[in-house]
Amino acid sequence: MDFKKYIADIKDFPEEGIIFRDVTPLLKDNEAYKETIDTFAKWAEGLEVNVDVVAGPEARGFLFGCPVAYKINAGFVPVRKPGKLPRETVSASYALEYGTNEVHIHADSIKPGENVIIVDDLLATGGTVEATIQLVEKLGGKVVGIAFLIELEALKGRERLKDYNVYSMLTY
Ligand code: 5GP
Repeated sequence: MDFKKYIADIKDFPEEGIIFRDVTPLLKDNEAYKETIDTFAKWAEGLEVNVDVVAGPEARGFLFGCPVAYKINAGFVPVRKPGKLPRETVSASYALEYGTNEVHIHADSIKPGENVIIVDDLLATGGTVEATIQLVEKLGGKVVGIAFLIELEALKGRERLKDYNVYSMLTY
């Protein structure tokens, strides 16, 4: 399937000079969405370890991570912005072009030794996923794979993830 047909390229969003890759047409198409999830699941099943948990960053990581978790019979753990999770959390921060961002995870959501995959829609600079890795590892989880629908190669996020098994379905 030509998945790129279902990604809308939006010029100058959210700022001038940025081409935003909009995944909502893919989500809307039953066959493209299903095939995307099936492709992620097949990759996860090929890792040759039992995946206990799928971790997905807010918000588009939920849209892909949850159905993958269901399909491979794993649990799902949300990675969220500050102030969203109601119980004790651990956090990690990462640098943006201007300022920093912080992500949180419930402190009891991953047990030491559990195998975790991280699923998100898009890899850009890698800051989000790097912080997510820190959260999983702080709790003693093992990141056995990281999957994206889209990788923006020019931003070199993959270089920050060289110690991990990284899979992307589409590259730009
Ligand atoms: P990074 O932290 O790798 O620089 O940015 C990746 C994060 O920002 C992902 O969670 C992703 O959802 C979001 N993101 C950045 N640029 C885009 C884009 O062009 N399209 C979409 N769908 N998400 C983006």
